[in-house]
Order: sequence, then C-alpha cells, then structure tokens
Amino acid sequence: MSNTITTQPAHKNTHFAPNLVAKYNTQGPRYTSYPTALKFNDDFTIANYDYYLNQARNTPSPLSLYVHLPFCRWLCYYCGCNKIVTKKPGVAREYLTHLAKEIELLAKRVGKTRKVSQLHFGGGTPTYLDDGELTELIHLLARHFNFDDSKQREFSIEIDPRTVNSDRLALLRGLGFNRLSFGIQDTDPEVQRAINRLQRTEKIAELVSSARLYRFSSISFDLIYGLPQQNSETLARTLDDVITLLPDRISLYNYAHLPKQFPPQRAIGRHTLPSAAEKLTMLLLATEKLIDAGYIYIGMDHFVRPEDELAQSQKAGQLQRNFQGYSTRLASDVLGIGVSAISSIGDCYAQNSKDLASYYQKLASGELPLQRGLVKTPEDRLRAYIIMALACNLCVSTLHFTRQFHISFWEKFADLLPQLEDMQKDGLLTLSPDAIHVTPAGRMMLRNICMVFDQYSSKNNTSYSKTL
Ligand code: SF4
Repeated sequence: MSNTITTQPAHKNTHFAPNLVAKYNTQGPRYTSYPTALKFNDDFTIANYDYYLNQARNTPSPLSLYVHLPFCRWLCYYCGCNKIVTKKPGVAREYLTHLAKEIELLAKRVGKTRKVSQLHFGGGTPTYLDDGELTELIHLLARHFNFDDSKQREFSIEIDPRTVNSDRLALLRGLGFNRLSFGIQDTDPEVQRAINRLQRTEKIAELVSSARLYRFSSISFDLIYGLPQQNSETLARTLDDVITLLPDRISLYNYAHLPKQFPPQRAIGRHTLPSAAEKLTMLLLATEKLIDAGYIYIGMDHFVRPEDELAQSQKAGQLQRNFQGYSTRLASDVLGIGVSAISSIGDCYAQNSKDLASYYQKLASGELPLQRGLVKTPEDRLRAYIIMALACNLCVSTLHFTRQFHISFWEKFADLLPQLEDMQKDGLLTLSPDAIHVTPAGRMMLRNICMVFDQYSSKNNTSYSKTL
C-alpha cells in the first residue's frame, strides 16, 4: 500500500466531542523531532558530531540551513523562545563575528557539493539585524555553502511586523528570500497591550501587500489563542482580519502559561487568562472559521490554502517535519547555526550552546559550539518513521514499514493494539492489516496519536504544552 492519502477536508462537525476533549487534552510534544529535544544529552560529543558532519559531505541530497538570530528589541510577555531582549548597540555585530566563525567551521566539514535548497532565519527577531548586517550574513552563507538557484528553493525569514517596512521587505527579496512568516498573534489592541506587543493591523496589511508586490511566493501568519484578555469575540475579529489578508499558511498555537519555566510570563496575571472552557470554544471557533474560509487543517496547529505546497505534499505522502514545523521534502539534513540552534544530520541531532557566553567562548577557542545531542538508536529510527508518517501524511503503511525495517508491524506493536483500538472507537483513526489512517477528527488529536508510538512519552510531562 502506498503512503499516499486522499486528503479529506477536516469538516467542522467532525472535530470534537466534549467527552473526547477531556480524555485527550494532555501534555504532549509537537514532534518536530523524534526523539524530542528533551532526550538530548551530554554523552553526544564533538567527535560524534564530526563523524556525522563528515558523512553529510558525501550525501547527494540537498541541504537545509537554519540560522538562529536571538535578539529582540522588546519583550513579549507570552514569550517562551530562546531570545535576548536588548537595545545595546553592537550586539548584532559581535554575534555576526561569531556566526562567521561557526559557518567557517561547519562549511569546512560539510563542503560545497550539496545544494542548499532551504534556508530559514528564525529567532528571536531576525530583522533585529539592520540591512547591512542581513546582507553581510547572506553573503557569508552564500560564500561558504552552495545556494540552490532554482525556483524550488525555499528561503524564509520570520518577521516581527514592528521591525520592517516595505523597503526592508524589498531588500529581503533582493537577498533571495521568497517566503515570509509574520508574527501576528492577535490583532485586538487590548490583547496586544496585555502581551506587550502593539502592532497595527493596517501596517500588517501594508506589509502583506508589499510582500505580494515583491512576489514573495508564500506568506505565513502565526496566531496564538489563550492569551490574556482574549475571548471568543476578540479572536473572531482577529480571524476576520487575518482571513481578509488571505495568508497562504496559518499556524494557530495554544498559549501555555508556564511562568515558572518562562519568566516573562510572570507579567501576565492569571485572572486575565481565558478559562479552559473558553479556550476550547476559541479553538473550535477558529477551526470552523478557517475551514469555512477554505483552509485545510494539515495537523499539529497548521492550516494552509488547498493550493499551498504543504497541502499538495501531504496529499502526495511527501510532507516532512523538522524544527521549523512542516516542510516539503526538499532537504533531509538540517544544519543549525547560531546560539541554541539544532542540527539534524543523518541519524543524529546536535544542539548548540543555549547561552551566548558559552557559545562565544567555544567559538573563540576554535571549537564547534556543541552543547548536547543524540544518535538515534535502531528502535528510535523505526518509531521516528511511524511518528513522522502519522504527523505528516496522516497515514502509516504497515507494509512499507515491514519492507523498510524487516519487522512485522503488528507483531512488533501488538501491545499497542488496545490503545489504537480505543482511538478507533473514538473515531480518531481507522485500523486495517495494511495501514493506520488518521481520520479528519483525528487530525485535531494528532499529537495524542503519535504519542502512542513514543517510547519516552509521559502524559504528565509539564515541559510540553497541552495537546489541544
Ligand atoms: S515572542 Fe518573538 S519577538 Fe517577542 S520576545 Fe519572544 S522571540 Fe522576541
């Protein structure tokens, strides 16, 4: 059986039954990797990383680069990212000097044979860098790696609308970026005040129109539900604003209030947060509104236009997931560059130092700034295969699995059958000897379905956000 699926629209009436919400609303990973970053450890050494980087040199497939730019000018109170809020002059310059060292060390190992088909600048706020610094960084990367110049390449950057104008978007296009991801979160002024992120919707509309003028091929919006001062009415208005601008992709994230873990969130009073019941109403409302507006829910918080490559890739059974979320199957290895960045090369994951001082210090002594990582075990590899097939293509073919790993799927996972049958009874998936298919209702509980195959998962792990 092929991994190809027929994409059915996740119809609004099939998403939730209230009893199922209570049953499946647990903590769980978003599976941007398997095993997840919580399993990374210090046993993974520079020698391990070097081995995989040298292997990567001889791989013919294209390469993806991720560059982490950690600085932000203002603090958003909901933030759970790895960032440094500062307006100190010169910080970006100092960072660039160190990025140059890291790029040189990596390029020496990986070589120039592999085409870079995907590049992503994330943060923090990548546009914290000024025009000259952004140009310099692209120049550095282009000199050390082999940029794909075909139309298929995906060069994307996260945009804080407060830090750009039309001219800056023109520069980014000129530097080769063809995809923009805007941090919108919510368009209501009260909500924006409560999260310390004021940005006018008119400005966002102007930027979107400039992005279209400059022929960026994909525009993506990030939204959050569950924020302080947010309720169903404010969210409905935000969604109306967003739908009018017709982004190609929308990510709708659940705000997880974890002030002990993320100190900026201490500025948010618990009493200003919507209740769990209100949050659920918001999720239902958002899902219905976006599907009614023509978006397809591809799973794991992501809605896309039917003509978007992600929807097409999912239909063809070729979607993949990496640390930036969903992606088309252009590049299999991701090289992470910058403080806290994560690489996924062959069978290993490697994460750079998470604090700037140690990142700088390692580079100053000529070392790769590795902090931790892991090498996937054979067991991890086969579970990763299943989890990624479910998360991306909403289907796992037991025949493909058996062919690939020479193990009978149903014998190997016989102990999981009762859990899977229970999910089948709840309408989340269908089981057959040849495949497991996720139903439209199951897309909303995709993280729960993947967790069945995660040998490290624990439903009560508070390091993860709620699955709904
Ligand atoms: S949410 Fe984004 S822009 Fe705001 S502080 Fe965090 S990383 Fe910076």
